[in-house]
Amino acid sequence: MYVVDLTGKTAIVFGVANHRSIAWAIAQILHQAGARLIIAYQNDRVRDTVEKLVEKWEGTILVECDVTEDSNVASVYSSIGQEIDTLDIIVHSIAYANKDDLGGAFLETGREGFRLALDISAYSLVPIVKYGAPLMGDDGGSVIAMTFQASTHVFPGYNVMGTAKAALENEVKQLASDLGLSNVRVNAISAGPLDTLSSRVISRYRDMKRVHAERSPMGRNITVNEVAKTALYLCSDLSSGVTGEIVHVDTGYNIMGL
Ligand code: NAD
Repeated sequence: MYVVDLTGKTAIVFGVANHRSIAWAIAQILHQAGARLIIAYQNDRVRDTVEKLVEKWEGTILVECDVTEDSNVASVYSSIGQEIDTLDIIVHSIAYANKDDLGGAFLETGREGFRLALDISAYSLVPIVKYGAPLMGDDGGSVIAMTFQASTHVFPGYNVMGTAKAALENEVKQLASDLGLSNVRVNAISAGPLDTLSSRVISRYRDMKRVHAERSPMGRNITVNEVAKTALYLCSDLSSGVTGEIVHVDTGYNIMGL
């Protein structure tokens, strides 16, 4: 029988803002499996919330990291490098776009809004892996990122974030190719709609969620715990031969044509 035991492993999770964050569900399941957690939160605004979430987790490290500067990412890893032996798991669960760019016509997306969304939501995976992978030991490690089906299909309202997810998924494949011989695996989870701070600002989010439940083969929306369980699989030895993959956790919605 296979049991996922991450005792002795260390995971860094980027993107916990509150108890609804997908990153928080993933952090919890990794913690339950025995991993030591490092939580990289964006800024002061979320620090108290994040501190409260992890207050009972002994040995957890909290670090601030705004990913818009490479130097912030590099210094996170240099600070934790002194406290851990090796890093085994990296979770990227970060996205941002201006509210104005998450509604109306995609045609109206401005250059600065495009740059911002792509920078935070897609480019950030590159420094997060570039500076994090060297901390992974001889056994390698696992990196996961969070994506959405708007990378390949049009979801009106999701707009520039769809462009960012297309870039992110391409990065996952290129990074998987770069790091495969180091036994560092890079995958993404393409999740169905979930109520979080980020999804709330997408202008047609409610429609997306309703249609998803109506049309998916399983006839319902997903739960955040279903994403976390797939994350656990991707972060553990159970997925040792899987890299560069986009795994859908969407009750099958992506396979439907009608
Ligand atoms: P969330 O708002 O809880 O998480 C987004 C995180 O990004 C927050 O923790 C925020 O602090 C962080 N962030 C934003 N700008 C940052 C910056 N400059 N530096 C560092 N961190 C920054 O929302 P979520 O829904 O949990 O989103 C997590 C990931 O899941 C995102 O990539 C999102 O696109 C993806 N996703 C969400 C859904 C959904 O329906 N909620 C579906 C598929 C994929």
